[in-house]
Amino acid sequence: MAIFRRKVVVIGGGVAGLAAARRLRLAGAEVTVLERGSAPGGRVQTLQVEGCRIELGAEFLADFYTRTLELVRELGLAGELRRIPRSAATLRAGRLYPLWPNVTAALTPLVGPRHKVALSYLVGALARHRARLDTHAFHKAYALDDVSVAEYARAHLSEEVLEYVLQPPLSGIFYWAPERTSRALLFLALWAGLSRPAGMRLYTLREGLGQLASALAASQNLRLGAEVEAVMPGPSKGYTIYGRCGETAFTLVADAVVVATTASAVPRLLPWLDERQRAFFSAVTYSMTTLLAVGIRGRFPRLTYGMFFPRRETPFLAAATLPTVKEPGFAPPDRDVICLRLSGLAAAALRECADDTLACLMLAELRRLAPGFDPTPRRVFQRLYRCAEALPEFDVGHFHRLQTFASGAIEAPSLAFAGDYLGGPFIEGAIVSGEGAAERLLGHLRSD
Ligand SMILES: Cc1cc2nc3c(=O)[nH]c(=O)nc-3n(C[C@H](O)[C@H](O)[C@H](O)COP(=O)(O)OP(=O)(O)OC[C@H]3O[C@@H](n4cnc5c(N)ncnc54)[C@H](O)[C@@H]3O)c2cc1C
Repeated sequence: MAIFRRKVVVIGGGVAGLAAARRLRLAGAEVTVLERGSAPGGRVQTLQVEGCRIELGAEFLADFYTRTLELVRELGLAGELRRIPRSAATLRAGRLYPLWPNVTAALTPLVGPRHKVALSYLVGALARHRARLDTHAFHKAYALDDVSVAEYARAHLSEEVLEYVLQPPLSGIFYWAPERTSRALLFLALWAGLSRPAGMRLYTLREGLGQLASALAASQNLRLGAEVEAVMPGPSKGYTIYGRCGETAFTLVADAVVVATTASAVPRLLPWLDERQRAFFSAVTYSMTTLLAVGIRGRFPRLTYGMFFPRRETPFLAAATLPTVKEPGFAPPDRDVICLRLSGLAAAALRECADDTLACLMLAELRRLAPGFDPTPRRVFQRLYRCAEALPEFDVGHFHRLQTFASGAIEAPSLAFAGDYLGGPFIEGAIVSGEGAAERLLGHLRSD
């Protein structure tokens, strides 16, 4: 049977699910996306708070996101792309050290001369392994998935490089600890920046990255507030999907299904998976974070769009960002916003802490570290958001899991999986995995 009229249900309206749905619909399938939240986008959400735009999840696109940037053009958003004008910086002893993700990072005054030699060792190691470093096929790096970043840095670089060059961005971007991050991920992330002579360029969209999710969702049959409870194989072929929209239960029948939730949700949704499949999804863990967004009268100094805080200087804060440095239109001209993020470990340890107490703690820590960015004297609003599943941890072992997935051992012919835990811990990874899942299903539906 032609693809036309074959029914596909996509579970999860994050960018992975929406990208899968778009590809399937363009090929002629009848696609329904079921999203339990009240808006599309999952971890790509731009909120409007008192006239200011706040990114709840993803903050930027990078120029190695080749598929995402193509999609931005296909969706008619090319004119909305905004280049982020400044680099992020690491704060050490009250001083900001810009960290452009390019080869000049090896010359950073953030660490002394002896440690710069260690950094050049790292550049050499990246060059040696470049054939395995494909940001669109993470599984190819599985041979480098042998030690954690912390073990690798202590053996081959230095404690100083670990604590001031590697740990702050790992924690500030992914909320991971180097002890729980595979060196394969470090190599891939560094290669993405260092392989570009001009350095990595970062972008946002004029109305925030939520614009990408909304544009992807615009032409879809998307049901919001629809929480899937179980997916059961049909008596001969296909699947029955059971769920709930508020108080109302629903049932759908589909020829094929894409499960584009986080990995942790999969075993509960598909209770009939075998031991090996369950073990695959259960092994994926996620970092946590908490966002405190504070709006002020006036504007902050325009020194950097984001600060990373080394854990040696604070066990609590991982990063702070200034949305209006990325795009001035993210706040009215007489307003500004600072977004503070808790480190993964602090967010987990303080998950029972009351919102007000947590906000006070975060602000006190910012005041101590960077008094020039203290928002309290000019504060006009404050909001706290907790994120229980921020980024899938690409820990030691995850690249071997990805290799297993790439071998086809986890999926079934009319059941595909998508998400950043499969494609890479960023928007590009989610989109590429969504489109890959759609292609695999289309291959099956065409031959069926
Ligand atoms: C704080 C933070 C900062 C980040 N910063 C960046 C950044 O700057 N740049 C970047 O590229 N990436 C960033 N990321 C990562 C990026 O946001 C994610 O990699 C990407 O959005 C993941 O998309 P996804 O579709 O795989 O998953 P998700 O966005 O999590 O989508 C899964 C969807 O499934 C839905 N769902 C789950 N269970 C069910 C169910 N039972 N029924 C129906 N629906 C269900 C969820 O509600 C969700 O919408 C950041 C993430 C976070 C959290």
